Formats: sequence, structure tokens, C-alpha cells
Amino acid sequence: MDYLLTEEQKMLKEMVSKFAQEKIGPVASDNEKNHRYPEDIIKEAGELGLMGIAYPTDYGGAGMDYVSYFLAVEEISRWCASTGVIVSAHSSLVCDPIYRFGTEEQKKKYLPDLLSGKRIGSFSLTEAGAGSDSGATKTTAKLVADKWVLNGSKLFATNGKEAEVFILIASTDPSQKTRGVTAFIVERDTPGYKIGKIEKKLGIKSSSTAEIILEDCEVPKENLLGELNKGFKVAMVTLDGGRLGIAAQALGIARACIEDSIKYAKERFQFDQPIASFQAIQWMLADMWMEYEAAWLLNWRASIMKDKGLNYSTESAVAKLKASEVAMDCARKAVQIHGGYGYTEDFNVERYYRDAKITEIYEGTSEIQRLVIARSLLK
Ligand SMILES: Cc1cc2nc3c(=O)[nH]c(=O)nc-3n(C[C@H](O)[C@H](O)[C@H](O)COP(=O)(O)OP(=O)(O)OC[C@H]3O[C@@H](n4cnc5c(N)ncnc54)[C@H](O)[C@@H]3O)c2cc1C
Repeated sequence: MDYLLTEEQKMLKEMVSKFAQEKIGPVASDNEKNHRYPEDIIKEAGELGLMGIAYPTDYGGAGMDYVSYFLAVEEISRWCASTGVIVSAHSSLVCDPIYRFGTEEQKKKYLPDLLSGKRIGSFSLTEAGAGSDSGATKTTAKLVADKWVLNGSKLFATNGKEAEVFILIASTDPSQKTRGVTAFIVERDTPGYKIGKIEKKLGIKSSSTAEIILEDCEVPKENLLGELNKGFKVAMVTLDGGRLGIAAQALGIARACIEDSIKYAKERFQFDQPIASFQAIQWMLADMWMEYEAAWLLNWRASIMKDKGLNYSTESAVAKLKASEVAMDCARKAVQIHGGYGYTEDFNVERYYRDAKITEIYEGTSEIQRLVIARSLLK
């Protein structure tokens, strides 16, 4: 579908594809098995401008659009879904809200280091009792003299172990639920800020998922992001963009499943012929490709809408829901096509299968995406 892209987008895609294939692909499985964060790769991605693709050059970004960002996350995730989410969480969930809701001072202070990848970002909305019901946050922030004092704990922060800049949502008026939460920019070395448990996960093991503990954590007054008690809006707008990144990650996984399955189906002989000659295998491949293309077009549409400044909330939920279900379905079929070998660590498809599952869960589960879509249909 490259004919749908501009020359600039095509060049970016080609560059990222080469980088991902040459640098990320060869180390992805080993990093994943050893739960190793790809520090060198992220550094190089920063040097290539991939940590700040869709942000203006004035703040140190690459000055490209969201379609380019989606293409880049897909190409990276084609080789390593962990690296894909590291880039996506950093860019969509941290750079985006600072760029969109930050004051000029906040943008100048934080964006150049984030967009160049010198510092990594993490976004923390989820708590033990506030998952899909993200407005039920129990972490509090109270203004004491000229500081916000944060207390509570957050869960499942992607990049939490490595990040230096965090976007954190806390309740500033517990009587108001979603109308009483506020977003803050919190730096890692703030007193009272601690990284707790690092989760052991089914997949995307090269990306860290951390608990964050806040004990009288004193955040400078000027680090409030957006408006007081309007943090829920910051979080929801941020997640609209984030979902396009996760859809791109899912598309990368789906494509990996398709490409590896085509190769295997041509090489594997049973009954004196390549298994690709069996119609059962051909139909699986055809269905995988059809679903991948449909999901790709939905993410392309939603990304264009974001670039045009249109309201793309529903389209983003549609794109994420479709892409994540396609990734899961392609992974299931890819393991099936690989037979018993697909169930072993000798082939990458078992990693794709484990990695695909998370795309149906984070940044809003599939049930929450359906809820968003249905609400828009019924309003
Ligand atoms: C690896 C990983 C990385 C993550 N990264 C981040 C991050 O960087 N920042 C962050 O803030 N969070 C992050 N999360 C949290 C993630 O977004 C949540 O796990 C997710 O939103 C679901 O919340 P929950 O786990 O509490 O599940 P729950 O909300 O308890 O849901 C359990 C089940 O109930 C269903 N359900 C809940 N409510 C409804 C409803 N109203 N209607 C129908 N079904 C419903 C859900 O769909 C699900 O099937 C991450 C999670 C993981 C596992």
C-alpha cells in the first residue's frame, strides 16, 4: 500500500525498515528471553529522530506527521514488539501530552531531551483499583505551600524502570472522580518517588512494566500539566493518540506472522510437497493478509484524521480494536502453519503469539474499545 504514502513517508518507512531489520531483528529474541531493555537500539533510534517523529523541529522533533510515526512503529514492531512499545509509550503517552497541554516553559524544558531520546518517558494512569475505570484513581496530590505533594501508588508503567520523565495522573479533588483528577510531570529523582515491583510478563519482555510508589513526593507547582482537575481529559486525549501507536505495534506483529509463515510454508515439505501447496495453508495466508490490509487502512485513516486535527476518538478505537484482534488471529494462524515447531523457541512465531496478546489489553482493553465505539454510535 506504499502508493498511498507521500515520498517523505516512503523514505522514512524504508529507512526504519532497514534499521529495524539490521539492528533490531538480530537481537530481539535474545533480549526478550533475557528481559533486556534494548538501550543501544533506543539510543540509535533517538539519533535517527525516531523518538520524536511527529513533533516540530523547534522542540527537537523530526517535524513529520502521525502517519510517519505509525509507519515507523509498525516497522520496528515487525522485528521487535517490545521496542515498538518502548517507542510508542514514550512518544504517544509522554511527548504528545507535553506538546499538546504543556506551557511554553514545560515544552522547552522537557521536549528537546525527550524527542532526541536522551531521556525516556513513561505514562502512569493505572492503579491497582483503577484499570479500565481509570477515573477511580486513589493517588492524591495536595498543594502545600508552592509544591504538589503526591501520595499513592501506580501500576504497570511501561518504560517505568528506565524513564526519567513521568506523566502521572492524581486526584486533586477526590469528591469529583473524573472531574477531580490532574496530570503532573514528575522527574525520576524527585524525593519521595520510588520505582517498585517490575512485572514478569507473558510477552514484550524487553520493555519494563513498573510499579511507582509515591510517598510525600514533592512536585514543583509549575509541573502541573494542563489545567487543575482536567487531567482526565489529558489522559483520554493522550490515549486516543496512543491507540494508534498500539495499532501500529499490532500491525507490525501481524506482518511478522505473515512474512514468517510465507517463508516457512514454502520451505516445509510434507507429503512430498511444500505445505504452501495445500489449500488449507493458502487460505490461512490469504485471510491473514486480507485482515492485515483492512487493519492497516483503518490505522492510516485515523492517523490522517489526527494529522488534520479532526476528532478521531472513535476511529482510533476502531483502528486499535481491529489491529489488535488481527495481530492475535495472525499469531494463532502463524503458530498453526509452523506446526509443532511453531510452539518451540526455535521459531519467532511463539514470541509473536505472546506479544500479540498485550495489544488487546493495554491502552484500553478490547471491551473498552467496543464501549467507546458503541457510545459514539448510540449518542
Ligand atoms: C504490559 C502492560 C503495560 C501497561 N502499560 C501501561 C502504561 O504505560 N501506563 C498505564 O497507565 N497503564 C498501563 N497498563 C495498564 C493497562 O492499560 C490496563 O491493564 C488495562 O487498561 C486494563 O485494566 P485492568 O488490568 O485493571 O483490567 P480491568 O479493568 O480490571 O478489566 C478486567 C476485565 O474486565 C473487563 N471490563 C472492565 N470494565 C468493563 C466494562 N465497563 N465493560 C466491559 N468489560 C469491562 C476488561 O475489558 C477486562 O476484560 C499496562 C498493562 C500491561 C499489562
